[in-house]
Amino acid sequence: MTIQLGTVARPLRVAIVGAGPSGFYAAGALLQQKEVNVSVDMFDRLPTPYGLVRYGVAPDHQKIKSVAKVYDRTAADPRFRFFGHIDFGQDITHADLRCHYDQIIYAVGAQSDRKLDIPGEELAGSFSATEFVAWYNGHPDFADLEFDLSCNAAVVVGVGNVAMDVARVLAKSKDELSSTDIADYALATLAQSNIKDIYVLARRGPAQVKFTPPEIKEFGELADADVLVEATELILDPLSAAEAAASTETQRNLEHLQSYAARPLTGKARRVHFRFLVSPVELIEANGKVSAIRLEQNELRADETGYLNAYGTGTFETIAAGLVLRSVGYKGIPLEDVPYDKRRGTIPNDQGRVKDPASGAPILGEYVVGWAKRGPSGVIGTNKPDAIETVATMLSDLPHTPPAPQPDPTSIDGLLEERQLNFVTIEGWRILDRIEVEQGQAQGRPRVKFTRIQDMLEALHAEIHLKEG
Ligand SMILES: Cc1cc2nc3c(=O)[nH]c(=O)nc-3n(C[C@H](O)[C@H](O)[C@H](O)COP(=O)(O)OP(=O)(O)OC[C@H]3O[C@@H](n4cnc5c(N)ncnc54)[C@H](O)[C@@H]3O)c2cc1C
Repeated sequence: MTIQLGTVARPLRVAIVGAGPSGFYAAGALLQQKEVNVSVDMFDRLPTPYGLVRYGVAPDHQKIKSVAKVYDRTAADPRFRFFGHIDFGQDITHADLRCHYDQIIYAVGAQSDRKLDIPGEELAGSFSATEFVAWYNGHPDFADLEFDLSCNAAVVVGVGNVAMDVARVLAKSKDELSSTDIADYALATLAQSNIKDIYVLARRGPAQVKFTPPEIKEFGELADADVLVEATELILDPLSAAEAAASTETQRNLEHLQSYAARPLTGKARRVHFRFLVSPVELIEANGKVSAIRLEQNELRADETGYLNAYGTGTFETIAAGLVLRSVGYKGIPLEDVPYDKRRGTIPNDQGRVKDPASGAPILGEYVVGWAKRGPSGVIGTNKPDAIETVATMLSDLPHTPPAPQPDPTSIDGLLEERQLNFVTIEGWRILDRIEVEQGQAQGRPRVKFTRIQDMLEALHAEIHLKEG
């Protein structure tokens, strides 16, 4: 007799690895299915849910973080369980999940970053934006990093929205940051910053930037930083002008940049310089750390598809800087026993169904969503239709999905207990959330974040103890 998954007699059991937006949208889409009897267990290597909404989105962009309310509604469904502080690959394996779940969704995001591949990149003072962002957002893996902000100038390489976030955080005053949920240690370090000049470097021209108009507009509103743009760098070649004419977003970006080029300096303490058509070619060392960055000027030439590539012109310049943050893209890291596309940094898939990279054959029962599926692109909302597509694929696969040998929901609890793994439930997260918000209220901030896993676990133990007492 064939087992029919998703029925009252045999509910569908789904594991989601990763509690970021894509994982939650996938959980939400599954739990909304009227015809399918399903329950979802979500695992995250961190005790806290929400992925980059907590550890990526800038602390001064609080409104964006309110999207977590949608995820809270999903988490409140009695068919949903959260297992925080459980690392796939370390605490639980691919074989474990295949044994206990009929379908697995990988929602692990893109945990690493792309490199510039230039000499000096490994010097002290050279970091990825990923590290800086995770540090100022209080990510426990990055809380011990040290950023020396005693230098006069910093360089941000890249012109996406992440580059805008890090340049803006460096440019903001203590007052501007102190009402946010930035990590306490980061606030203390940034409050002491000596950085006066922040250079933001674009490999191509102003018509090819990846930032969006609201992000560039914010630079004009900084309390303590002027924005500098050279009007000559905004002159477009005919192909760029044609690109700009076809995009209202590009035109709005250009309008903001032009308004900055026309603005007189007002003598604010910091200056943010936007530079175009330059590529870093070397980080220069002095006293064991970065002291300057060497740039080559570029020109644009179209390839056979019309894409405008940057080519070095052989003209170089050097900018003195003691901090270099590269923001040239995120990429995924491989998960044990899960296919991985090294070039794209994603899990190879067809409409969310994981496939064997060599043969292209589908791996039934395994799926992917979000940045792990399509690479690091789009805004938080982009992950919703992306997750809905994957869930549709999962449902269409149901009739021929091999059922898990041990689907009983209590069997996974037994396994975690046997391995003596402390995990944080959704109720545990709600306690942490409440403590953070309460501590924030006392300081007029949205929350004061826990930045160490040990502190989170201790707070939970104390709370449980208090309740018992
Ligand atoms: C710096 C930054 C700022 C951003 N700001 C904005 C913004 O302002 N507005 C906006 O709309 N979008 C923003 N984005 C984009 C947005 O954050 C992403 O679209 C979204 O977070 C991608 O969701 P995801 O679920 O694929 O990945 P993630 O959010 O990265 O979630 C992945 C989750 O998987 C977990 N995980 C990873 N490996 C394992 C493992 N082995 N075992 C268990 N769990 C694991 C991680 O801990 C994490 O919780 C920003 C992105 C970055 C990087």
